[in-house]
Amino acid sequence: MSQKNYSSLSKLSGYSFPVYLSAGTEDRAQKIAKRCEGAYGFLRTTLAFEAQVCILVLAPEHWKEYTGSARYGVPQTTDARTLVVAGRDSELWQMIVPPPETLSPLAAQAMREVYAQSDGSLSVAPYMNLLAVHEIGHLYLDQATGKFDFKLPRRWLVELYCNLCLHAYVAALEPEQLPALETFPQTIVDLGFAHLPHHTLNKFEELYAGMPPQNFIWYLSKLHVAAKRLYDSRGVEILPRVWKMLLNSSEGESDAQVAERLRAEVHHEAKRVLTAWPA
Ligand SMILES: [Zn+2]
Repeated sequence: MSQKNYSSLSKLSGYSFPVYLSAGTEDRAQKIAKRCEGAYGFLRTTLAFEAQVCILVLAPEHWKEYTGSARYGVPQTTDARTLVVAGRDSELWQMIVPPPETLSPLAAQAMREVYAQSDGSLSVAPYMNLLAVHEIGHLYLDQATGKFDFKLPRRWLVELYCNLCLHAYVAALEPEQLPALETFPQTIVDLGFAHLPHHTLNKFEELYAGMPPQNFIWYLSKLHVAAKRLYDSRGVEILPRVWKMLLNSSEGESDAQVAERLRAEVHHEAKRVLTAWPA
């Protein structure tokens, strides 16, 4: 893979992969690099595959240059090897927090317990900062298939797999982070989807990240709750099963074929992610 020019960034040493960062993001870059090192080893063992990883931890002034997008804060991969995350909190992360008055008293309390900052405001930064591991899941899949942004047989299934990578990693290596990982997506799912323009899996395939951020977060949250349920039913062994299913995917599989493969190759519960999804 070509070596990019990161001359406007500095480099962290001491990790199994290159980590580049913007000035002023050192603390978060160290934490993210340490987390990614753990996830890298965990996935290498669990998936029996070794990916190449390069991590960029960026301040807002470098975001557009390296991602091509003006929207600061969305963790993403920019090629089959490179993962880009925010080194500072993003306004976007505030936008996706549901206003407390829309939540049940129990949900509002759970959100406060997990995400309240010293000034009393809520920040889902602890959740967003975990998503680097989801993105490493994409890098593993892209490299194993040789296709950047691999999306077969369905994009939603790839996102489910990445969330499973994230959930299994946190459960195994950072269990104290489980509340930060689970509370926000569960709250979003509990709010339902009547206020959102899209909710079907077909719409997700069609629009993917081209929908409003709140709507995309709803899909990602629902797929997180599904990943947690799968993990809780069979433990870490569910992850290599989904991985193998994705590697053996081809274009043109019907929903009925995908559902049957999920039942036969993953778990009967996995089939329900598709068959019980709201139509
Ligand atoms: Zn993803």
